[in-house]
Amino acid sequence: MERSVEEWRGRVLRCLPSVEEVLQREGPCLEGDVPRRELVEVVRHAVARAREEILQATSEELEKLPQERSQWMAKIREEVRKALRPSLRPLINATGVIVHTNLGRSLLPSRAIKAVEDVASRYSNLELDLESGKRGSRQSHLEGLLRRLTGAEAAAVVNNNAAAVLISLTALAKDREVIVSRGELVEIGGSFRMPDVMAQSGARLVEVGTTNKTYPRDYETAINERTALLLKVHTSNYRIMGFTREVALEELVDIGRKKGIPVMYDLGSGCLVELKHWFPDPEPTVQEALEKGADLITFSGDKLMGGPQAGLILGRKALVDVIRAHPLARAVRIDKMTLAALQATLELYWDPEQAIIHIPTLRMMVQSSSDLKSKAKRLAKEVKRRAPGLEVKIREDTSRVGGGALPLLRLPTWVVAVRPSGNGAHGLAKALRRADPPVVVRVAQQEVVMDVRTVQQDEIPLIGRALAACVEGDGR
Ligand SMILES: *Cc1c(COP(=O)(O)O)cnc(C)c1O
Repeated sequence: MERSVEEWRGRVLRCLPSVEEVLQREGPCLEGDVPRRELVEVVRHAVARAREEILQATSEELEKLPQERSQWMAKIREEVRKALRPSLRPLINATGVIVHTNLGRSLLPSRAIKAVEDVASRYSNLELDLESGKRGSRQSHLEGLLRRLTGAEAAAVVNNNAAAVLISLTALAKDREVIVSRGELVEIGGSFRMPDVMAQSGARLVEVGTTNKTYPRDYETAINERTALLLKVHTSNYRIMGFTREVALEELVDIGRKKGIPVMYDLGSGCLVELKHWFPDPEPTVQEALEKGADLITFSGDKLMGGPQAGLILGRKALVDVIRAHPLARAVRIDKMTLAALQATLELYWDPEQAIIHIPTLRMMVQSSSDLKSKAKRLAKEVKRRAPGLEVKIREDTSRVGGGALPLLRLPTWVVAVRPSGNGAHGLAKALRRADPPVVVRVAQQEVVMDVRTVQQDEIPLIGRALAACVEGDGR
């Protein structure tokens, strides 16, 4: 018995092609843009792994391994293909969550993409004042635009909003106290907690009120000679409902003015257009927060603003100047491609109607039900054509904005639901994630649910192809 297993193992081993054989047969179609050295290395690794697999296999496992040279060749080819693919690559978001942090948040407007390409492929006046020929500031490119657009006195941009909060607190409140409501201390996903980020600034967070109720007097009694800032945080990803009391920005501004303490407001999402027309209870806009008297506001570039990852800091010149001059500014400074994309995205906000057409994040939010329905119909038809065995239907459902924006809002949408047999909905969802390009879907009640809100028209055939391939791989 023992002997026959070893003989069998030997037979399987003899089927395994050598590195040279793989390179000779598959090399020409795999090579493409891949450097020869990388290809050889990857093939060597794949063959070595296969050999190890055979050597370690029990007799049961041996049975499941390829028994012919051509099968091994195909298996190794697939492994090599996978290994040669870049790790970070585009995928299809069929979850309907528009600002999905795990999927890269906002898609850039095409003008912003063009701006990135321009500034990346040529030298630029990033830090050169073209008038004087002297050294300039990269911050100068956006400051005027942001001031005119929002009415802020001054502006600075950094790598992301967490950095904006960190540098603001460090520059303005290190070794002093910052008063914040207990109900506003948020965890922002990936288990990052804003209070932990804030603590890194060296400012002492003084929490006031309770989870559900904070009153103006809670701030007032906490104020003392060590108080540097009153901080308000937009509770972006949740709402406390029911028996609650939140101190409104106007009330906090009143207290700040009376006591001579600046009010900082971390807006999180940072919307630049009025969405009242589309949604009840929208996010506070940036302009609104400034009008109501916030002395400093911070928000993300890639949430509702729909631009690149960035942190925007707007407010009183005296405060922004201190932030800009802080040594941390160098550590969190924004790069030229982000600046270019931000500039192009912000320009679109001069005309809110244009912004909604050209900024994908906003466009996806305001898609009409009839557009969504016809997109769902197209996708369902494509799936039925490619994978006739599948049970496919379309129905109404809801999508979420994501990115911690508008947490309670459920946007009415249309979805394509597929009920698979075989490995079930989770199995199919997993197979779709492994497709090329990967497709990320929702799973609900044994169905794979594809929300077309975040699916682009040209992705529909790709989803059909991926589903067909997955279902075939399922043994049908
Ligand atoms: C998202 C968020 C942040 C962090 O912003 P990033 O751009 O992810 O760094 C900070 N504060 C609030 C309230 C947020 O919603």
